[in-house]
Amino acid sequence: MSNSTKYVFVTGGVTSSLGKGIISASLAKLLQARGYSVTIQKLDPYINIDPGTLNPYEHGECFVTDDGAETDLDLGHYERFLNTPTSQANNVTTGRIYQSVIDKERRGEFLGKTVQVIPHITNEIKERIQILGNKGTYDIVITEIGGTVGDIESLPYVEAVRQMMWEFENDCIVIHLTLVPYLRAAGELKTKPTQHSVKQLLELGVQPDILCCRTEYELDFNLRRKIAQFCNVSMNAVIESRDAKTIYDVPILMQAEELDKVVLEKLSLPTKSIPNLDNWKNFLERLKAPKSEVTIGLIGKYVELKDSYKSISESFIHAGVSNETKVNIKWIHSEKIKRSNIDEMLKGLDGILVAPGFGSRGISGKIETVRFAREKKVPFFGICLGMQCAVIEFARNVLGMPEAHTTEIVDDCKSPVIDMMEEQKNISNLGGTMRLGAYNCQLTPGSQVSQAYNTDRISERHRHRYEFNNDYLQQFEENGMKATGRNPETGLVEVIEIEDHPWFVGAQFHPEYKSTVDNPHPLFVAFVAAVLKNKK
Ligand code: GLN
Repeated sequence: MSNSTKYVFVTGGVTSSLGKGIISASLAKLLQARGYSVTIQKLDPYINIDPGTLNPYEHGECFVTDDGAETDLDLGHYERFLNTPTSQANNVTTGRIYQSVIDKERRGEFLGKTVQVIPHITNEIKERIQILGNKGTYDIVITEIGGTVGDIESLPYVEAVRQMMWEFENDCIVIHLTLVPYLRAAGELKTKPTQHSVKQLLELGVQPDILCCRTEYELDFNLRRKIAQFCNVSMNAVIESRDAKTIYDVPILMQAEELDKVVLEKLSLPTKSIPNLDNWKNFLERLKAPKSEVTIGLIGKYVELKDSYKSISESFIHAGVSNETKVNIKWIHSEKIKRSNIDEMLKGLDGILVAPGFGSRGISGKIETVRFAREKKVPFFGICLGMQCAVIEFARNVLGMPEAHTTEIVDDCKSPVIDMMEEQKNISNLGGTMRLGAYNCQLTPGSQVSQAYNTDRISERHRHRYEFNNDYLQQFEENGMKATGRNPETGLVEVIEIEDHPWFVGAQFHPEYKSTVDNPHPLFVAFVAAVLKNKK
């Protein structure tokens, strides 16, 4: 559509959690709905190479892309909104930037120069931003800068933005997100934090083009004018970003504020096209008028921080809409579940999902939960560690192997029904060394899963070190737990099912990473349908 790629930078001020990720995804959605090809990138200022080694309590879930990148959870929002895949290039951390610069230094690429934050680190940042633009696939690249302006660790990123604004004057704009707090005692919305935040950006040489002001109340004409005047932006570039009932409302709210139009005008791109948001609006309508309701227990060990399971909870929203059903998630801490209290803990659930995870904390509660779901015939969905727990439970309580376990927890376990993959055994580094990204899977015709997908050949994303131990496969199958999904190249078991049950499926892969508004994930859709049917 345009000759050169345009860049939109999204920065944040005043506080974190203003919703930069959702605003970026919503803007991208609106531009995409106008026919532009858009991608979104997240720059994270922390020193970890990627979030793969981070505890979910830090920044929530680790999202995984097709190409096996372990990334920030905002990439999940980008994919769910845009329905297009992201890749390693869409998430860059300070750690990765430094690693690359240091590697170049060791190779002698800087020809004896002193290697410095400016220009070497900032150049590397600019290169990473332009990798997506230079592909020639995108009209617009939206780059979200993590953290808040003024953080020491964000400085090189803001400097890189400043330089790009200077180098590509007509092709770059900055959207700055701020907070306009309501002071109850004064009965007023306050613009001063926004003014200070913009000043801070100005001190770093960056004049924002557009301000997105997060607020609990309407920004009236006078407030907008005040903000525009003191922050040096045009009136129509002061965008109200009101708290929304659901994140899926945000594109519509941003459209009402004409964020997309202002962005296109500032980038000198045509604004004639009319955004086609029919699908999106249809989704929203159905989201808001469910015909039934179910409660599904999500059993995990990070339930205090719901962002740890972001893709799963969003997948339930998508699948709920497909079934015209409101899915209430009951968050249940696996560490609290014991055989003695399980009936009480899992009472009233219409379905049960046992979540992914690592390590021993809470695993016995997960295994007890599987037993409950299997014996009481409650629809069950196990993901990754949840699938592994289903295998362990079946071995212990159906196959009569009381010592069955995964070697992740018991190294020298007598019945290692879940065992480390051969190729993982000699790996000592933790970062980026799991089985990661998309793998093919062949499904058994007629199985629950092949019915759900309506095909026998799928590709799903993985993130794990351990696997079903095929030495035991025959024993499992003879006793009613079937491997209904297998990797066609390696024979690894990717899906297990129990036949004599309303719906009992365990997946070694993570279906939640691929559910989007336009394409709710078939396994979540089928699971919710089974839950609904079983309830009736
Ligand atoms: N800890 C298990 C493994 O590494 C499961 C991982 C997960 O649930 N993502 O195999």
